[in-house]
Amino acid sequence: MSENHDRAAWLAGPGASCRADEPYPERSYRMILLGAPGAGKGTQAEFLCARLGTCHLSTGDVFRAAKCMSGGLSPAMQTAMEYMQRGDLVPDVIVIEMVRERVSCLQCNYGFLLDGFPRTVAQAEALDEMLASKGVKLDAVLSYELSVEEVVARLSGRRTCRSCQTTFHVTSKPSQRDGVCDRCGGELYQREDDRPEAIRVRMAAYRESTAPLEEYYNREGLLVPISAEGTPEEVFMRTAEALNQRLG
Ligand code: AMP
Repeated sequence: MSENHDRAAWLAGPGASCRADEPYPERSYRMILLGAPGAGKGTQAEFLCARLGTCHLSTGDVFRAAKCMSGGLSPAMQTAMEYMQRGDLVPDVIVIEMVRERVSCLQCNYGFLLDGFPRTVAQAEALDEMLASKGVKLDAVLSYELSVEEVVARLSGRRTCRSCQTTFHVTSKPSQRDGVCDRCGGELYQREDDRPEAIRVRMAAYRESTAPLEEYYNREGLLVPISAEGTPEEVFMRTAEALNQRLG
């Protein structure tokens, strides 16, 4: 997440206003990040937001934020939590409605990096319709490619800050103090859906539901495949080169 965007309108939904301390970028990029869970989309989103001044719009973050908010969860959110805890995809109707309520974020002059949405062809079609109705065009769909073995190794070692959602890894990106976030001092925990049983379910959901989106966006001429092997910095160099080639 950019230090200068709190994404309140995205995380808390209609009624919330974002605090954004930086001017609008000269160019608003509107992109989708695709890739298996653990491919590093969140980390690349942080790099990209810092470079391009865009907002990182993650549907997983909306669900996690809802869980932490005071006040009761709506029935739709309660159902979403049950699916999420098992590692299953939340039903399309719930996710699509949640994004529709936040459609103003897709028109924002900061631009956006959608992370974790769309995850099914039905969600991609709904997104196309939302964007078309607002006259917004996508610039690119960045598709991060990684082997299954590497995905499992990355996810099972991931630790997430309860307060600011920054992620660490027990071996490749450890925090300075065990269990404590370097950024805000919050508590680090293992997400329920990063446990081995849930990882298996998430990978199956990815293969069945999300992988077909590569073909969907390839047909639309938007797909930019990027290898996600190596360090986050190496992957970002590849991302920057690919974007340069595509968007100039
Ligand atoms: P993420 O942080 O993107 O890995 O999302 C965490 C969990 O939230 C997923 O495993 C799903 O249970 C749920 N989720 C997030 N985005 C979506 C989506 N677009 N469609 C269905 N479920 C989602």
